[in-house]
Amino acid sequence: QDTSRAVLITGSTSGIGLAVAHVFGRAGYHVMLHGLADADSVQALRQEFADYDGKVGFSSADVSSEEGCAQLVSETREAIGNPSVLVNNAGIQFTAPTHEFPSDIWQQILAINLSASFYLMRDLVPAMRATNWGRIINIASVHGLVASENKAGYCAAKHGLVGLTKVVALENADCNITANAICPGWVETPLIQPQIETISREQSVDLDTARAQLVGAKQPMAKASPTNAIAELAMYLCGDFASTITGASLPVDGGWTAQ
Ligand code: NAD
Repeated sequence: QDTSRAVLITGSTSGIGLAVAHVFGRAGYHVMLHGLADADSVQALRQEFADYDGKVGFSSADVSSEEGCAQLVSETREAIGNPSVLVNNAGIQFTAPTHEFPSDIWQQILAINLSASFYLMRDLVPAMRATNWGRIINIASVHGLVASENKAGYCAAKHGLVGLTKVVALENADCNITANAICPGWVETPLIQPQIETISREQSVDLDTARAQLVGAKQPMAKASPTNAIAELAMYLCGDFASTITGASLPVDGGWTAQ
């Protein structure tokens, strides 16, 4: 089994992860899909990938625990072998002021948005080191670089992920393994929908107006990035010209962090 071009993308049933999976699938990679999804949508998802050349696997492991991450690793190895590319993308959001932030949600966000990436890198990097090649792409956020109010869990996890990415980059610089964080501003996916709905409800405006308001409040270019902007950058990081880009945090944010 040739696993030199095999990719695991966590949280690839939706949004950014799904776009990443398509870009790699189209390029002929073996693709391990992953995320929380019911049987019907898994079947529809597999169908979307049926025409690509590589193998396609799927895992619904819940990555909010170490055991769930271990399950994902073993299901991935079974389906596509050891991935040479790992895209840590699964993530959740919740907004509330720090003094009202529920502790169970704080734990969940840290578990999914930060610790899962640690467990998966810990378990999958050794095989990359053995082959002397690997690519790790962590989907962080502008909130790994700057803060916004009401995002204590998310900002803490994403800042942590940016730091963790740098550590892994340094530790594996001797093995042709790069580790980078992509830091998107607003991307049009289901993850941001609750924030749009809150603005719509609180200010009695329609969803389009609320969306424009949400995006424009922080992002000088007042348009959300398409999911493919992130997916194509992930693919670029796996190409020959990106072999010395490592430990970087790459914003795709319409100027958000330039301010
Ligand atoms: P999304 O809600 O569309 O997709 C999230 C994915 O993660 C889904 O596949 C879901 O099943 C999976 N997931 C969530 N919890 C899980 C769990 N416990 N176990 C297994 N899988 C789980 O979100 P998205 O907007 O595509 O976000 C993807 C990543 O990009 C996240 O890390 C997010 O923080 C980051 N991001 C998104 C934006 C944005 O504006 N959408 C901006 C910056 C960063």
